[in-house]
Amino acid sequence: MEESSWDLFVIGAGSGGVRAARMAAQRGARVAIAEPGALGGTCVNVGCIPKKLYSYAAGYAASFEESHGYGWSGPAPTFDWATLKANRAREIQRLNGVYEQLLRGAGVQLLRGRAQLAGPGVVEVDGALHRARHVLVATGGRPVGLELPGHELAVSSDAMFDLPVFPRRLVVVGAGYIACEFASIFRALGAQVVQLVRGEQVLRGFDVDVRACVGRELQRQGIDLRLGCAPAAIERAAGALCVRLADGGTVDADTVLMATGRVPNSAGLGLERLGLVLGERGAIPVDEHYQTALPGVHALGDVIDRVQLTPVALAEAMVLVDRLFGAGQRRLDYALIPTAVFTHPNVATVGLTEAQARERLGDGVRIFRSEFKPLRHTLSGAGERTFMKLVVDAASDRVLGLHMVGDEAGEIVQGFAVALQAGATKAQFDATVGIHPTAAEEFVTMREPVA
Ligand code: FAD
Ligand code: NDP
Repeated sequence: MEESSWDLFVIGAGSGGVRAARMAAQRGARVAIAEPGALGGTCVNVGCIPKKLYSYAAGYAASFEESHGYGWSGPAPTFDWATLKANRAREIQRLNGVYEQLLRGAGVQLLRGRAQLAGPGVVEVDGALHRARHVLVATGGRPVGLELPGHELAVSSDAMFDLPVFPRRLVVVGAGYIACEFASIFRALGAQVVQLVRGEQVLRGFDVDVRACVGRELQRQGIDLRLGCAPAAIERAAGALCVRLADGGTVDADTVLMATGRVPNSAGLGLERLGLVLGERGAIPVDEHYQTALPGVHALGDVIDRVQLTPVALAEAMVLVDRLFGAGQRRLDYALIPTAVFTHPNVATVGLTEAQARERLGDGVRIFRSEFKPLRHTLSGAGERTFMKLVVDAASDRVLGLHMVGDEAGEIVQGFAVALQAGATKAQFDATVGIHPTAAEEFVTMREPVA
């Protein structure tokens, strides 16, 4: 059988795989990448990008309503789901083409098929064998739903972008990133949304004040947030769906979204056959250099199940390529990864929560907190609040954590993440002149600690 040989063979053309393939090829390596699906992976096709486009679509609904306080009037505009879907599909197709050009432009050989390891340093795609000095597994993850009776009637976030009919009534199961974002987006677009949260609040892992604030904002948006509530079964009912709750209640729905987490795509890759022991939830265990226990086999991105974010997969790819084909100096610091949840309003955060800081430093933590009605909403009539919080190490004065719920929080916190990365102190925040009038200036004008 014909064999080709490569310096690097990448399995999966998503965020991490494409970045690694391009960077390695640009450094002179002979690189092939295998992908059976659309180029760009989760982020481009069913993740960050279409989600953010739908979030923009959702934002207009509130803007129209809020404009009345600024003197605008006229007939209420209507929303056309089919137009949004078609325009999104066109843009994603354009991006798929851009990814293909980027790979081909860098000299990467693109193989349109599913890949698996056939032996040490050997990858098989559609019956053809490829020898590779290095193999990178960047196969991402997939949604996992709950194994309830009738679970097959629910959909995952993958299907939400292309629902044939806009759901008038949506039930969202879960309280993480996807559940909150989709609940918020579909509510703003006009759906009645019931969100079932098994715990005491949404967004486990985020700062306690942020969680409470997001919970309030989701409710203010009109989402029926049911805390401490679990689904027991999903049934068909008169052309629609009925969710039976563990407490005996029922909720009718046109669509049920299961947003209960994502697990690594590590099955069917031949890894276990070669002796690799997978970790919890099927994660591929790697060391700090993204090296698996199999010589020459590396893994990164969602499939290693550390931090499931696109910029993290990209950063891991750069570190790996630098080690395999460059100076090997780069390291990824997982401590200060900024992140945003694109609810309305956004949530964004970098660094430690108050609870994490207190666990490390006990009483040696100072907390600065501010909550206010943003200037925009003084005339819009909307009840939306903006929330900001700083977590500071009392001994060193370093800002350890920065949290925000408010308009454009993602854009604002990205800038402050640089300050935290540079080790900024609260005194340096205080010495920074604000930009007036903005919401962000509040981060440099919070003077009195509240705890
Ligand atoms: P992926 O991008 O998932 O790529 C894996 C690729 O491998 C896929 O194309 C797949 O088809 C391919 N593959 C699988 N098996 C094989 C095989 N055997 N052979 C060949 N190819 C294979 N992150 C953010 O940072 N910001 C956001 O706003 C954000 N929003 C999101 C919204 C949603 C709804 C979802 C689901 C995720 C979101 N994420 C977001 C997370 C982000 O999309 C992922 O962290 C990121 O895509 C992971 O990149 P990856 O390269 O590890 O995997
Ligand atoms: P998350 O891990 O964020 O949330 C999973 C949710 O499912 C949690 O609320 C969890 O509840 C709930 N859950 C889990 N098991 C059960 C159960 N048995 N019964 C009821 N509820 C359950 O996963 P997502 O699917 O939302 O997203 C996957 C990842 O993708 C995210 O973690 C994030 O890394 C990435 N992503 C990033 C985005 C961004 O950057 N803006 C947007 C979307 C996704 P509990 O809290 O009680 O554990």
